[in-house]
Amino acid sequence: MATLEQEYTGNANSIDDIADKIYAGERLTLEDGLRLFNYHNLPELGTLADYVREKLHPDTNDTVTYIVGRNINYTNVCWVRCKFCAFYRTPGHNEGYTLSKDQIFEKVQQMVDVGGIEILLQGGLNPKLKIEWYEDLLSSIKQKFGHYGIILHAFSPAELIYIANISKLTLPEMFARLKAAGLDSVPGGGAEILTDRVRQEISPYKDTAEEWLNCMREAHHAGLKTTVTMMYGSADTLEDRMEHLIKTRDLQDETGGFTAFIPWSFQPDGTELDYERASSFDYLRTVAVSRLILDNIPHIQASWVTQGPKVAQIGLRYGLNDFGSTMMEENVVSSAGCAFTMPLEEIERLISEAGYNPMRRTTQYNFLPDGVPQGSPLLASK
Ligand code: SF4
Repeated sequence: MATLEQEYTGNANSIDDIADKIYAGERLTLEDGLRLFNYHNLPELGTLADYVREKLHPDTNDTVTYIVGRNINYTNVCWVRCKFCAFYRTPGHNEGYTLSKDQIFEKVQQMVDVGGIEILLQGGLNPKLKIEWYEDLLSSIKQKFGHYGIILHAFSPAELIYIANISKLTLPEMFARLKAAGLDSVPGGGAEILTDRVRQEISPYKDTAEEWLNCMREAHHAGLKTTVTMMYGSADTLEDRMEHLIKTRDLQDETGGFTAFIPWSFQPDGTELDYERASSFDYLRTVAVSRLILDNIPHIQASWVTQGPKVAQIGLRYGLNDFGSTMMEENVVSSAGCAFTMPLEEIERLISEAGYNPMRRTTQYNFLPDGVPQGSPLLASK
């Protein structure tokens, strides 16, 4: 039996009926999404996605936001061995590390010194670290730097599920403790593709699709906002991508807890998987279809770290309305051969050149009109 994807390949000469639904404000179906993915007139998809972006943000459709923040990859020790990951070192490996609190403080200080606001903590599933270690880390950072108003956007579902398991806590108990210690919001990493067939192939020891979604459900119930990612371009079909988008939309209908969707493509270097690096065409159509399907998620964030600044800039006309974080440091995708970096003035230039006003924001997408302090090293070209 032909899959939906096969049925629609070559049978997508017109999307007029889908465009009519979009202009009428009707919700699109999985089948509509597959037809859009197979429709090769990219600018037409962009026009539709841009229409939806403007409709979702009528007062700020001339604005593209970004956040000044940094990643801190606090440990690379991980037993999960995802096949797409070039970052981890198994427990006992001589290249494994766990940063000390002083090392983490130094990195937070560097961000504070340049006027940054968001600390994104992400690491491996390290069997030596239990809930008390995470509570101590969060509360110590808040104690030392809280008066700068920094936001702790930390630990993706794989880490959180593992912290709960090894600490013998339920997810609600764990979220209550981490929130009390200073956790502000949760990054949507590790979603990869939310179908178990793909997860089984690329990360067989990681959480299932339902476990990932349920962890986010519990985060939302605990009052924590989260983002949601999609890493496409490995074992996934277009049907898998659509299933991911529909599951994400369904959970958002239920909880309303997702602030932004962040699609990015699998980065193959140094990994066990032998897939070609996805094209820019594929990125732009994925951004556009995501914007059209996810009618209940306000923001779509660029992944310039994986796609490069120029493609991210073009994506601003395909449904993106946010340029993500200045990053300062990123070890996970750079381990897989992807190493785009960018000074803040370049982010602002790219946004302005595309016809939008650059605006600094918080993790919750509140505007920070004062921007970055004059003289910040972030403003200096590397
Ligand atoms: S992606 Fe995360 S969970 Fe998977 S091996 Fe890498 S660090 Fe571990």
